[in-house]
Amino acid sequence: MKTLDDFNFEDKKALIRVDFNVPLNEDFEVTDTNRIEAAKPTIIKVLEDGGSAILMSHLGRPKGQKNPDLSLKHICDTVSEVIGVSVKFVPDCIGDEAEKAVAELQNGEVLLLENLRYYDEEEKGDEEFAKKLSKLGDVYINDAFGTAHRAHASTTIVAKYFPDAKCFGYLLAKEIEAIEKVMRTGEKPVLAILGGAKVSSKITIIENILDKVDDLIIGGGMTYTFVKAQGGKVGDSICEDDKMDLAMDILKQAKEKGVNVHIPLDVVAADDFNNEANTKVVDVDKIPDGWQGLDAGPKTLENFKSVILNAKTILWNGPVGVFEMENFAKGTIAVGNYIDQATQNGAFSLVGGGDSVAAVKQFGFEEKVSYVSTGGGAMLESLEGKTLPGIAAIIA
Ligand code: AMP
Repeated sequence: MKTLDDFNFEDKKALIRVDFNVPLNEDFEVTDTNRIEAAKPTIIKVLEDGGSAILMSHLGRPKGQKNPDLSLKHICDTVSEVIGVSVKFVPDCIGDEAEKAVAELQNGEVLLLENLRYYDEEEKGDEEFAKKLSKLGDVYINDAFGTAHRAHASTTIVAKYFPDAKCFGYLLAKEIEAIEKVMRTGEKPVLAILGGAKVSSKITIIENILDKVDDLIIGGGMTYTFVKAQGGKVGDSICEDDKMDLAMDILKQAKEKGVNVHIPLDVVAADDFNNEANTKVVDVDKIPDGWQGLDAGPKTLENFKSVILNAKTILWNGPVGVFEMENFAKGTIAVGNYIDQATQNGAFSLVGGGDSVAAVKQFGFEEKVSYVSTGGGAMLESLEGKTLPGIAAIIA
């Protein structure tokens, strides 16, 4: 399989699937440029080689309608600023107008196509639509991890029209490498920290990860299903009674596989789901009725600390408390600090999937961990052990 660095783009037109699904305010200004910045190195590589870049993305959910509010023209100036090149825009992503704009594109220039999802065919993975897209480049680069779990025309189907001229962009390659480190090649002990609200949304991840890790920390709202399943009293804590058998089965599987499972010992319990609620620290299996566990307690954090500092490879998915409320964010912040320390000591740390990324950004840990994934759903599906169609299409 070729990497981006195996290609020389001199006189070549690179058709790049990027994830420019960025947030806009009511004046249609981009409020967060992270995704554009993330695609920049790939675009610059093409331009510096002496080629041109044709960028394609979706924005929002127009569902096959040409909704002007979701036009990519709104982001054209911001893309120009971030990349440092004046980006041209064409108000279609297939057909004569797009083909003409591509034909006129000179080396060193960048063209942004209109929203792919103005066509239903994009999300349907339509072959004809993908074929039309394929006319717009000599080489296909997929650099959109956020949509790599979708078999859409621009993320997957189009790749077949470039049998010898397709590769991952730098961003997607970095995501794949980070997942590989956690799942296969990382130095032991490998630790997964799984938090968040519900066991039900993390079951497939837990089951898949049991084959890969030495230690598993279970935190957040998931805790209480495990505790109650073992006979503990969880008061009014969030708990999925119908998942208790599953929790016991997970603990049994972990034991058979030699995985050390670390469940909170004590928690910060509150008498209401509210930042101003009364709180007290109680043992995790002795939470009185009327009280609910909303954050990890001090004994728990001491234990988590030693496990985290001992790890050489760390995956973090899901907060260990209701971090959105200041009074219940301490556990999640502490876990972030321990991961920071472990990373400074040489461990590889990956944060990915859902709310842990929000927590990491909110508390400023983004620069302190080894890698923060850019794809919520795509990362979750990777952790579940699924092969993402967008990745398989490049490898094929
Ligand atoms: P997830 O998207 O599955 O990672 O879940 C994240 C959510 O879990 C966050 O919004 C947290 O507030 C929530 N959460 C974490 N700990 C608890 C808890 N003890 N009780 C209720 N919700 C929690």
